[in-house]
Amino acid sequence: MTNGRLDAVEIACRKEPLVVEPPSKATSDYFGCKVFNRSAMRKYLSSDTRRMVYESIEQGVTLDKSVAEYVAAGMKQWAMEMGATHYTHWFQPLTGGTAEKHDSFAEPYGHDGSLESFSGKLLCQQEPDASSFPNGGLRNTFEARGYTAWDPSSPAFILDDCLCIPTVFISYNGEALDYKTPLLKSISAVSKATKDVLSYFGLGDEMVQSYLGWEQEYFLVDRDLFSMRQDLMMTGRTLQGHNSSKNQQLDDHYFGAIPSRVFEFMKELEFEAYKLGIPVKTRHNEVAPNQFEIAPVYEEANLAVDHNLLLMSLMKDVAEKHGFEVLLHEKPYDGVNGSGKHCNWSLGTLSGIGLLSPGKTTEENLRFLVFMSNILKAVYDNNALLKASIMTASNAHRLGANEAPPAIISSFLGKTVSEAFTELLNSKDMVKIKGKKIYSLGIPQIPELLVDNTDRNRTSPFAFTGNRFEFRAVGSSANCSAPITVLNTIVASQLIKFKKNVDKRIEKGEDTMTAILNETRETYKACQKICFDGNGYSEEWKKEAEKRKLDCESSAPITFDAFTSKRSIDVFKESNVLTEVELKARNEVFWETYSKKIEIEARTLRDMALNHLLPVAVSYKSNLLDIIWKAKEVYGDDYKKYIEYESSQVAEISKKVCNVYECCGRIDTECDRLMKIGSREQAVEFHDKVIPIMEKIRAELDTLEMIIDDQMWPMPKYRELLFIS
Ligand code: ADP
Ligand code: MG
Repeated sequence: MTNGRLDAVEIACRKEPLVVEPPSKATSDYFGCKVFNRSAMRKYLSSDTRRMVYESIEQGVTLDKSVAEYVAAGMKQWAMEMGATHYTHWFQPLTGGTAEKHDSFAEPYGHDGSLESFSGKLLCQQEPDASSFPNGGLRNTFEARGYTAWDPSSPAFILDDCLCIPTVFISYNGEALDYKTPLLKSISAVSKATKDVLSYFGLGDEMVQSYLGWEQEYFLVDRDLFSMRQDLMMTGRTLQGHNSSKNQQLDDHYFGAIPSRVFEFMKELEFEAYKLGIPVKTRHNEVAPNQFEIAPVYEEANLAVDHNLLLMSLMKDVAEKHGFEVLLHEKPYDGVNGSGKHCNWSLGTLSGIGLLSPGKTTEENLRFLVFMSNILKAVYDNNALLKASIMTASNAHRLGANEAPPAIISSFLGKTVSEAFTELLNSKDMVKIKGKKIYSLGIPQIPELLVDNTDRNRTSPFAFTGNRFEFRAVGSSANCSAPITVLNTIVASQLIKFKKNVDKRIEKGEDTMTAILNETRETYKACQKICFDGNGYSEEWKKEAEKRKLDCESSAPITFDAFTSKRSIDVFKESNVLTEVELKARNEVFWETYSKKIEIEARTLRDMALNHLLPVAVSYKSNLLDIIWKAKEVYGDDYKKYIEYESSQVAEISKKVCNVYECCGRIDTECDRLMKIGSREQAVEFHDKVIPIMEKIRAELDTLEMIIDDQMWPMPKYRELLFIS
């Protein structure tokens, strides 16, 4: 009998890198060549049309229908010259990925002709059937329609033969069915609230943006090995697999030399990303074997999110060409690091002022402390909500495990900023000094902050890193819109409160700077408990966090409750980002998705056990029994001393097989039972009842893997999945 696994291992080991010829041109010569960007617009749109499009992009002004006609005509001409024959509205349903339905430009014309058409209406709006996308009950069956609507702030691009137009996706009644709609609303909310506060500093006319730089971690695995693992194919992670004796203990993979097959993959991926205008910058090996990272230069949040989603789908396609499968799951392998997607987030003006960068003057530093304290307060007040925004069935494996931030949100500020805040708390008097800088705020100038980049705390989920916050708890497969929407929204809501309070102080007679200073001090005082500079992985921190009343819930389905707490509903409502109805619908989707994911995992594990692994265990047991039988024949009564090992293994195997078999039965009963109950309860029960059974099955199967003859084990093992590339 041949063992398919060993054949696949041999094939995988012999694979040569697919060498990608470097393009003969400089990157800048083809960067963005597949994007309808400003240089394409200059060629295909009149200056009046362009001006209106730019206004719409920068100021969120709605584009006039007649302008849309001109844009559509120019876009179509450009796309056809680039070889496109189809177009699609590219959107982000709550499934997590992206969706597209292609339509051809071709329209019948006359009796036997056809011509290419693409109108302003088709650019602006489409009506895909919403009934097959998660909607959490927002859609009554007779109103199956959903609408996609053009988002001019993210440029159209070409994939293969298709012009892709980034869009929002909303229901018949206008409720958001996607991630982009609330993101855009949150950007406008935080922009407005920030501008209002900036007016104290004479910057009220600035356009404000929220910025995002993501760092995408991922695993690569050989496709031949991947296709022999039902669990990887069905769920994106291994549900069984004994740890490899060597994994990441030696820390020899991080930043190590990139294997040549992987290197060729990366080169081609970057090449494709540049053509689509994705400014990727950094590539390196990550901590675990066969784990890597790619990161771009940060961009406006909406564009950055689209670029991340686009990159994730490019990765899949390019990996396939190189004989790899890319794993974006947060925890594909037990016992080694999982993958995250750090979201570096900041606020800044379009003119280039970073609001989370300390400045040179006292006033600039006060402005810096204003934004820092308000962000910290927002995170403190809404720490449960922020956690909910990054919680999924897959990221739950990573949070709280010993390599990722714990399932508790806290913030690390670093020494310099912490000291500045301490000074602020202690200082009461302000000293008048000459000239424009009229106040000595009792806070030191903060140029050393730049040094903070080295002063890192890897265990903090929300760390300040010099000019931005790095939200580390976000999962590798996530749509970053979810956490960025929440961040923007809670910060907007906090800034509005701050502004009201400062205005009240001014009304009562405090002068503006004193009012700001006093309010900043109060704001920081009220949220100090969110700051934690120690080891976030430690047990002591968990206890301390409970004392501080930070949210310590680790069950994903219960975490989702934070979306519909009274506080969250108010925060989302006042910033006009999501209504109560939309929030409730989203929670329905999150619970349903959670349950479905766990159910698929449970049933896959059961199939693997019953169809693949237990039969092998039983065959091996039969081999052992054969030996025992023969020993009896040969050695007669004396035989037992010759088969000690074999007998003990038979007993072990029998016990484990029985346990697994019994647990598989329970999986069936539980899954069937849970199909009949409501979505929240169902998700909670999947977490509480089904996951522990899966863990038990896994433990037994992992030990069986060590007992059974390696030649017979049918599925690629960890050492093969992790080390072949
Ligand atoms: P590290 O691994 O040290 O955290 P990387 O260089 O891998 O840093 O990634 C940092 C990310 O943060 C990059 O995408 C970078 O462009 C982004 N970034 C830098 N400054 C800002 C900022 N002000 N706002 C948002 N993102 C930023
Ligand atoms: Mg990094």
